[in-house]
Amino acid sequence: MDGSGSLTREKGFATRAIHEGYHPADEGGALTPPVHFTSTFTFPDVESAGAAFAGEQPAHIYSRISNPTLDLLERRIASLEGAEAAVAFASGMGAITGVLWSLVKPGDEVLVDQTLYGCTHAFLNHGLAKFGVRISHVDMTDSAAVDAALKSRPVIVYFETPANPNMRLIDIRETAAKAHAVGARVIVDNTYASPYLTQPISLGADIIVHSATKYLGGHGDLIAGLACGTKEVMEEIRLFGLKDMTGAALAPFNAMLILRGLKTLPLRMREHSASAGIVARFLEARKEVSMVAWPGLESFPQYELAARQMRLPGGMIAFELKAGNGAAITFMNRLNMIQRAVSLGDAESLIQHPASMTHSTYTPEEQAEHGITPGLIRLSVGLEDVEDILGDLAQALSA
Ligand SMILES: *Cc1c(COP(=O)(O)O)cnc(C)c1O
Repeated sequence: MDGSGSLTREKGFATRAIHEGYHPADEGGALTPPVHFTSTFTFPDVESAGAAFAGEQPAHIYSRISNPTLDLLERRIASLEGAEAAVAFASGMGAITGVLWSLVKPGDEVLVDQTLYGCTHAFLNHGLAKFGVRISHVDMTDSAAVDAALKSRPVIVYFETPANPNMRLIDIRETAAKAHAVGARVIVDNTYASPYLTQPISLGADIIVHSATKYLGGHGDLIAGLACGTKEVMEEIRLFGLKDMTGAALAPFNAMLILRGLKTLPLRMREHSASAGIVARFLEARKEVSMVAWPGLESFPQYELAARQMRLPGGMIAFELKAGNGAAITFMNRLNMIQRAVSLGDAESLIQHPASMTHSTYTPEEQAEHGITPGLIRLSVGLEDVEDILGDLAQALSA
């Protein structure tokens, strides 16, 4: 829960992804951590239960608050993100809503980037806004616009980088410095990059949220979320946003699957990135394609920022076809191996149409205003042989 069992913080990323926070000797020598399938925890007497409830004696009470298997996952992700602590949630949306319910009150302003994951957009604009929280949008790639937007003193500055679905990058260091100058907290959704590519806290962010459903789990078999930050803020989020406001506790079995996925995160991210580079260059060279956004392409508008802020360009690509929206849908319907599905970061290559799928939570006017173009295609490049990914794309493009 508190990250103090961290003996390996000075070790490399891959080593920590495998070993951080677990000592086999504590569990009868078991190489793999046990999964604590328990809803509740017992006390020797009522007094010690009272002390746990009062926060005087650290102890697990109930698995909606904490659980040893979730502790290990939280410790491990905190280490990988360079954060003091983390809290696990039942979904990425559980983490995002749990964090925001904990930190805002009516009358506060939350300043968000113009491009956000569809359900985050809906939660803020159609959800929190109903409770008197003011949501304002700004294009955070535009430094002067950020300066102007911060004049109204928002309490939270929230963004994704790369943003879902159009791959715009936000300069974390610069934006965090500006936000801190007006006293705002900075929350970064690090789902697309994963901590292997970008560690927002080292660049000045205060809180990181994740859909662990994506690269962290990595195998398309679970829904989960995580929040990372200081011990103090994470404890507040655990005892309010998680325990009381959302109740969105992660199941221990799913925590175990994420711990398993994390062991190969560096390997997978390197392979996703390498294959995405080959696919992005292939698409860019095709006459049917009008635009390709992948942070490792020299043509990417924020290529320099990507090189500064990301260890590798990652496995996500956004692109458009010259023939427009109708052609995009026909092309997606012709794919044989690449699966038409939302979600991302899985071993399987996944393709989807944000305007009618993940980002249909935006009204058509909002889509136009927020850069979700009708013909945009989002591709999550999987771990299949890249020749097979190219082959499927080629047959669908030329059919
Ligand atoms: C998928 C996603 C979420 C939501 O996470 P769930 O695990 O589906 O609840 C939030 N942010 C981004 C960037 C996502 O891609």
